[in-house]
Amino acid sequence: MTFLFPPRETPGVAISGETARFPVRRIFCVGRNYREHAKEMGSNPDRDPPFFFTKPADALVGDNETVAYPLLTKNFHYEGELVLAIGKGGTAIPASDALDHVYGYAIGNDLTRRDLQLAAREKGRPWDWGKAFDRSAVCAPIHPAARIGHLSKGTLQTRVNDQVKQSADIADMIWNVPDIIAFLSASIAIAPGDLVYTGTPAGVGPLVPGDVCTVSVEGLGTLTTRIATRESA
Ligand code: MN
Repeated sequence: MTFLFPPRETPGVAISGETARFPVRRIFCVGRNYREHAKEMGSNPDRDPPFFFTKPADALVGDNETVAYPLLTKNFHYEGELVLAIGKGGTAIPASDALDHVYGYAIGNDLTRRDLQLAAREKGRPWDWGKAFDRSAVCAPIHPAARIGHLSKGTLQTRVNDQVKQSADIADMIWNVPDIIAFLSASIAIAPGDLVYTGTPAGVGPLVPGDVCTVSVEGLGTLTTRIATRESA
């Protein structure tokens, strides 16, 4: 097959302890999965079914990279999260079988243009402009479940310049990992290479140029991101 111009290389995430990279197909994100965060966003903290939004795979940023303050926004936020890497596809997967589909786990930072997200929400418009922009999907190396097991609890913390901003336990997720996979695969066929950002706890807040943001999850290490000034057009 020939293409008009060379196709972009497949986006990928490093795998801890491996030279091979995890080829990323799609990025799904759970919109609201910790009660205290739902409250701080002025949303209903009840156990409604989870909802999802997406980011483009070419928005991925690795560990220890610099992210320029994004275009358009005046309120750029961090969201520390647990990320699932899907290794086996399927449709209508029951929660009891869901962990068989998880290749591994990583730390993520769901970077958000909060002002654009909230303006869209108010008008009933899609979240894309607030969530799915360039370099918005930060992801640390993936730890294979075959090596570390499956994660159902553990402290998640986000720091900005060493000040703790988010501190929660992933056991406090409204919908746990098997539930998330069951809901997602009830709506679309999940496939190897998909990543799922599982939602952020309370304490979201702004990043400005010069900040260093780190997210840690017990058992997964730390993800570091530096914020630089906005790139001029
Ligand atoms: Mn999020």
